Amino acid sequence: MTVYSAKRRPGDLTGCGWYEILPAPDPTCELEGHVKADWVIVGGGFAGLAAARRLTQLRDGDRIVLIDAQRVGWGAAGRNSGFMIDLPHELNSESYAGAEEEDRKQIRHNRAAIDFTREAVEEYGLQQYFSPCGKYHGAADRAGGKALEAFTRHLDGLQEPYTRLDAEDMQRITGSDFYVGGIHTPGAAIIQPAGYVRGLARSLADRITIHENSPVVRIETGTEHVVHTPNGRVSARHVILAVNGQVESFGLYRRRLMHVYTFASMTRALTAAQQKSLGGAPEWALIPADPMGSSVRRIREGRMVIRNTFTYNPDMETSEHQIARIGRAHDRSFAARFPMLSDAEMEYRWGGHLCLSLNSVPAFGEIEERLYTACCQNGLGTVKGTLSGMLIADLAAGANNPLVDEIRSFDEPRRLYPEPFMTLGAHAKLWWMQRRAGRDL
Ligand SMILES: Cc1cc2nc3c(=O)[nH]c(=O)nc-3n(C[C@H](O)[C@H](O)[C@H](O)COP(=O)(O)OP(=O)(O)OC[C@H]3O[C@@H](n4cnc5c(N)ncnc54)[C@H](O)[C@@H]3O)c2cc1C
Repeated sequence: MTVYSAKRRPGDLTGCGWYEILPAPDPTCELEGHVKADWVIVGGGFAGLAAARRLTQLRDGDRIVLIDAQRVGWGAAGRNSGFMIDLPHELNSESYAGAEEEDRKQIRHNRAAIDFTREAVEEYGLQQYFSPCGKYHGAADRAGGKALEAFTRHLDGLQEPYTRLDAEDMQRITGSDFYVGGIHTPGAAIIQPAGYVRGLARSLADRITIHENSPVVRIETGTEHVVHTPNGRVSARHVILAVNGQVESFGLYRRRLMHVYTFASMTRALTAAQQKSLGGAPEWALIPADPMGSSVRRIREGRMVIRNTFTYNPDMETSEHQIARIGRAHDRSFAARFPMLSDAEMEYRWGGHLCLSLNSVPAFGEIEERLYTACCQNGLGTVKGTLSGMLIADLAAGANNPLVDEIRSFDEPRRLYPEPFMTLGAHAKLWWMQRRAGRDL
């Protein structure tokens, strides 16, 4: 028997706009007492929910229990900017692109995840949270323009379609004269992240049992694994850990995962006068030409959302102070783009956890008999989390899916550099990359 004790629990702070603008969630059902099941999934983000949905398809009648330490949608799955990106999106590069063969594989994987999400959206009637509208890339200056040129050459090589946009087009769409040019790529889908994951969980709840506010504190493995929370336990033959970076709290993948935070602010609903002075299209989603720049969305609820700044937080926590400090950077970036909205106040500000590996691979697989991990989504968890959840369920249930072999052929997450070099190096690299993003930030 092996015992995995969690040294930390997730504790995402209040203030996430996506969650707050939704109606109040249903009451929680915390885990209490001893429950028996066939499967336990730990984590109700993209990976955990995708695994749960896939298992209901593969193992009709099996008892599936999903446990989350927080409310579903409260963690990173409900905090992100909602870009489900099909194309290469290597955050650690100058223009998102990587090696061509690897990128073709990534596109195939990302599209499988978007298709899975589209099917779930249709099956459960979640269309209000999902829009297959593609994404804009905006260049704020000549350097951004050059990065986009490099990206479009790469897309040409991959034979992927896109539309070039000039400054006038960008202003017609965003209302802002900030962007000197851009492109539109049609394959991305955009979600209201908290709405989507909460809707998915609620729809699955008639086939699986969901316990929220129930942090898993210990897992004991055996003929049946036993998953403990402070007030209860579940025994099951199969356990899937879908907790992203928190997997390291259980002593797994130690010193192989990088814990990075990124931050967002959301305005109040714009008044009719503010909407008029802004102009542009009523809904759009834009990522920066430089991966370290600001992504911006105008959402159907009449609000704007801006995200920027990456920080290295190896203790997996942010603070009100850090969120407030980065909020001032959001205000500066927002004012530079939308001077006509100088009276538009930010109503919500938040930060959230990304988990990356040095070699951009997931922490995926069977780590002990019938104990599986689907973690480390390298900053693109809407698609990579969904994919790893689908595929871990396929692997665990013995379903035949060639994508399982592809994801298993990746290397292990590479070991981090020794301390203090790792932390100093990560801070320095992020600082330098964000400085280099220049006006795109
Ligand atoms: C501001 C921001 C913007 C982002 N923008 C994008 C974007 O536009 N597109 C994109 O693809 N990605 C984006 N991301 C990243 C994306 O949100 C994550 O990659 C994704 O949420 C990871 O999915 P996951 O299911 O693996 O993990 P998570 O979403 O982190 O879910 C893991 C769940 O496990 C639970 N958990 C952890 N430990 C325990 C425990 N001990 N017991 C029980 N439950 C536990 C957590 O509470 C959590 O709900 C963004 C992230 C942030 C913060």
